[in-house]
Amino acid sequence: MIYIVIPCYNEEEVLPGTTSQLLSLLPTLGEEARLLYVDDHSGDTTWPLICSLSAAHPQVLGLRLAHNVGHQRALWAGMEAAACHADAIVSIDADLQDDIQVIPRMVKDFREGADIVYGVRRSRGSDSWFKRQSAQCFYWLMKSMGCQTVYNHADFRLMSRRALQALLAYPERNLFLRGMVPTLGFNCRTEYYDRLPRTAGTSKYPLGKMLALAVEGITSFSVGPLRLISLIGLVFVLVAVCVCIRALVIFLESGAVPGWTSVIISIWFIGGVILFALGITGEYISKIYTEVKRRPHYLEQERTGTNW
Ligand code: UDP
Ligand code: MG
Repeated sequence: MIYIVIPCYNEEEVLPGTTSQLLSLLPTLGEEARLLYVDDHSGDTTWPLICSLSAAHPQVLGLRLAHNVGHQRALWAGMEAAACHADAIVSIDADLQDDIQVIPRMVKDFREGADIVYGVRRSRGSDSWFKRQSAQCFYWLMKSMGCQTVYNHADFRLMSRRALQALLAYPERNLFLRGMVPTLGFNCRTEYYDRLPRTAGTSKYPLGKMLALAVEGITSFSVGPLRLISLIGLVFVLVAVCVCIRALVIFLESGAVPGWTSVIISIWFIGGVILFALGITGEYISKIYTEVKRRPHYLEQERTGTNW
């Protein structure tokens, strides 16, 4: 049994097309397969649409979350719901920017023993210049901070039941699946594809959400920023020692109070650095804060039917 898990947020424009494309793909997977839509509490007609699609096609299942929790958590909700029914799950975005013809290849890899199959974009031709550059910058930053991510892989992947169960055992609240999945290990494979432009509707990942995801990724997986603060702090202590020695020498030689300007500049500069450091430390403290609260990832509101 293969479950295709699709998080949706205000996707009424793409859902009918997505469903018909995926339904025509299901028989080629050669086993029983289901489409599982996770409605991330959309404000449009996404949920009624999922209900009617589910009524028309028994392979279509729907799950509505009680609150908009974001892509990563919505995906988690779908994976948790599918975990006890599926031998493998494939996660894909509702807009089908990721080539669905890769899914049969992923399933084939799974039958040959792969536990995790990463869908990796061959190129970023369909993205805007800004998205391309910022993504490249992000992957470089993650790598330099020592976090394992798969280059140009978003959340289009297949996971076997045991890999999924291992992932779902992670108790953390701050979800960054692209960082978490590579830490699982198991047998991994990669399938390359060309990413297409969105067929309809607008991106549900505006700049703000994209930056939030990048910050989430770095602060959830790396203590690099904290080490950087220590390093900067060390350099400043060394500089401060030199400045002190110089100031003392000047004071002993001339007895005057020269260097007023440089003192003022140092005070301001160091003040700024301290504030910056406090800001980054605060980011980690906020993580501890959300972690100790142990809130559920999501609250399930309803499901279609009762037989799954
Ligand atoms: N999404 C979601 N909750 C949100 C935002 C997005 O479930 O709060 C879903 C969205 O419906 C889509 C996927 O996440 O299936 C990726 O979003 P999108 O395609 O807009 O991102 P982009 O391709 O522009 O990065
Ligand atoms: Mg998209």
